[in-house]
Amino acid sequence: MAGLRIGYGFDSHSFKPGVPLVIGGLRIEHTEGLAGHSDGDVLLHAITDALLGAVSAGDIGTFFPPSDDRWKGADSSLFVRTAMEEIATAGYRIVNLDSVLVLQRPKIVPIAGDIRERVAEILEIPARNVGIKAKTPEGLNQDGVAVAHVTVLLEEIAGLDEPKRMVAEEEDPEEMEVVVRTLIDEPPHNMSRLGRKPAFDTDDLT
Ligand code: MG
Repeated sequence: MAGLRIGYGFDSHSFKPGVPLVIGGLRIEHTEGLAGHSDGDVLLHAITDALLGAVSAGDIGTFFPPSDDRWKGADSSLFVRTAMEEIATAGYRIVNLDSVLVLQRPKIVPIAGDIRERVAEILEIPARNVGIKAKTPEGLNQDGVAVAHVTVLLEEIAGLDEPKRMVAEEEDPEEMEVVVRTLIDEPPHNMSRLGRKPAFDTDDLT
């Protein structure tokens, strides 16, 4: 049986007037948006943490410290894509994902299908493998807050080591050296190589 890994992510953001509301990468018409250093997408942040956690790769603050102005107003799908690169590097792919959103307003049920489609598109998996559920914060006294909980299941990509090893054996070592140097010297525009040094600044303003 192929190796399986489970991941869990949580996030919360306060509602704030005057900013767009984005949940699961979907722009939603509402009187308020979510405050945050990035676009405040509470669901994509919890998904990012679930993916990173599943392969023990740290958390969103490790990769995207809120102290870094590059992530100001950032589209949070960038964070998810980086986490997807991490799980692929570790040799895993997503089986399915489930989530619970906890918020008073707006009503999620009428748009849950659209959020699901958008999340599936970002994760590059079929929508049938994405669960979007919503609750109101009954008795929690947190009406001005949006919360997201996410679990994700990963499976090992079968036979990944074999093709990798075959390619490595065929490569001329000097040629490989050139390739590696080019990668190292390349300007840091590649999201997968940003913030690799753990900052452990987990004050989650992202
Ligand atoms: Mg966040």
